Amino acid sequence: MQRFHCPACASEIWFHNTDCLQCGAGLLWRPEAGGGAFVQTGPDHATCANRAVIRCNWEAMAGQRLCRSCRHTTVVPDLSVPGNDVKWARFETDKRALLALLGALGLPLGDAEGAPSPRFEFRADPMDPRAPRVLTGHADGVITLNIAEADDAERERIRSEMGEPYRSLPGHLRHEVAHHFWQVLVQNDPQRLQDIRAVFGDDRADYREALAAHYRNGPRRDWAQFYVSAYASSHPWEDFAESWAHVLHLLDGIETATAYGLLGPTGLPSNAGALLGVPMKRLAGPWIDLSIALNAVNAAMGHSSFYPFVLRPPVIAKLEAIRALISQAGQGTGGL
Ligand SMILES: [Zn+2]
Ligand SMILES: [Zn+2]
Ligand SMILES: [Zn+2]
Repeated sequence: MQRFHCPACASEIWFHNTDCLQCGAGLLWRPEAGGGAFVQTGPDHATCANRAVIRCNWEAMAGQRLCRSCRHTTVVPDLSVPGNDVKWARFETDKRALLALLGALGLPLGDAEGAPSPRFEFRADPMDPRAPRVLTGHADGVITLNIAEADDAERERIRSEMGEPYRSLPGHLRHEVAHHFWQVLVQNDPQRLQDIRAVFGDDRADYREALAAHYRNGPRRDWAQFYVSAYASSHPWEDFAESWAHVLHLLDGIETATAYGLLGPTGLPSNAGALLGVPMKRLAGPWIDLSIALNAVNAAMGHSSFYPFVLRPPVIAKLEAIRALISQAGQGTGGL
């Protein structure tokens, strides 16, 4: 993420701010192809209809009630249930950042007819404890997210139960959107499919059986040599999605660290779109140095690790395959 300043008083603001804490100006984000800018609220700029509900700070699309981000959401939880609005809002805040990043990378965010794609469904578990739970996942351009994950205590409980080193809302969003882009960019392109299979393995392996075996037997013992996470070793699709999520972690993380001067002189470009043009071998070094430093800072403060992962050469090769795919696919398509 870049750094932003209030269009009225130039104080620093956050990407999710609806108001400047310094001067009180109303803030509105105008997404544009490859980027965007903050403007002040006013008669010239229509606010998104979700602003009052979930503090969405994006501008409504011309002639529409909703902004570009909120148009991607087709199911929202029952807002008469206390707390659902806060959980949904937390997801939408991270979803806006996700869409801005995908737009900056030039990835397509509309289908052939120009309708928003992917679509997001934010669902809450049914009250009846015997009813089936909402499963986070992707199917045919629809990303379903269980809003219980927006509750910190609940997400930490699941993380601990699953033995994962890291579980976050941006992580979920980045992982699930990878499955969508596998379908959009890879599935129907014989050359890309061949290239991706050469790196991640043959995805025709039975998916349900592979996941069942993963949960039954645990990951293969040497997974850390070849995969970025234990879950990535369950099936080539999950390896692709986990690796894709880490490419977005690196691009956003390096962009943010650069914006705050944390990286020193690396010679790297300062924004995610341009970083996409840099081979992963070249990005991995500064990222690993930054991770070691921030892991130590977090440890000093008693926080969990900033980046609890090890990027071995075979994993970096997978991240490079994803980077090359996004770099090639993103050219000229213009996301947002
Ligand atoms: Zn201000
Ligand atoms: Zn909105
Ligand atoms: Zn997945």
